[in-house]
Amino acid sequence: MDSQITVHGKRFVPYISEEEIEHKCFEIAAKINKDYEGQKPLFIAILNGSFVFAADLFRHISIDAEISFIKLASYKGTTSSGNVITAIGLDERVKDRHVIILEDILDTGRTLYQFLPELYNQNPLSLKIATLLTKPSARLFDVQPDYVGFEIPDKFVVGYGLDYDGLGRNIPAIYQLAE
Ligand code: 5GP
Ligand code: MG
Repeated sequence: MDSQITVHGKRFVPYISEEEIEHKCFEIAAKINKDYEGQKPLFIAILNGSFVFAADLFRHISIDAEISFIKLASYKGTTSSGNVITAIGLDERVKDRHVIILEDILDTGRTLYQFLPELYNQNPLSLKIATLLTKPSARLFDVQPDYVGFEIPDKFVVGYGLDYDGLGRNIPAIYQLAE
């Protein structure tokens, strides 16, 4: 693994290697293949951050499955948490499907906490969350992931789809902000 990198003038140090990520994608996919055998689940990957994880995980899915990509847009509204999340690209196919959300990272949980009710409204048969990374100590909203790659501390990371102000998504491994 390379040594430290710079993104937008900030230093990041190697944190999770390509090999570790690849192995974890294989492990999560193996669990899903087993749990959803015969059920033809629908994966919904949340753009932008999850596109790399989704592509790698999905190639290890060996059961019949579909995948769809959505974007969540947030705007100021009147909910208790201050803004409203709306999904771009979500269609009616969620009804009566076993749905697995794919996320790059679960941080405060706000995004999914606000989005999940919208999905439940469309009556999926089941709804689970697979996230590559989770920061349990940063959680402010009650969202429990069902499949987790790595539990990490509340420190900013980039790479493997995750950006720092638009840059860094193309870095193949995950890097952590240096002290
Ligand atoms: P949440 O709604 O759970 O607070 O935040 C989820 C989103 O915040 C993620 O999908 C991601 O876009 C962004 N995010 C949270 N923590 C990090 C981080 O450490 N690095 C990067 N690049 N994005 C993060
Ligand atoms: Mg994201």
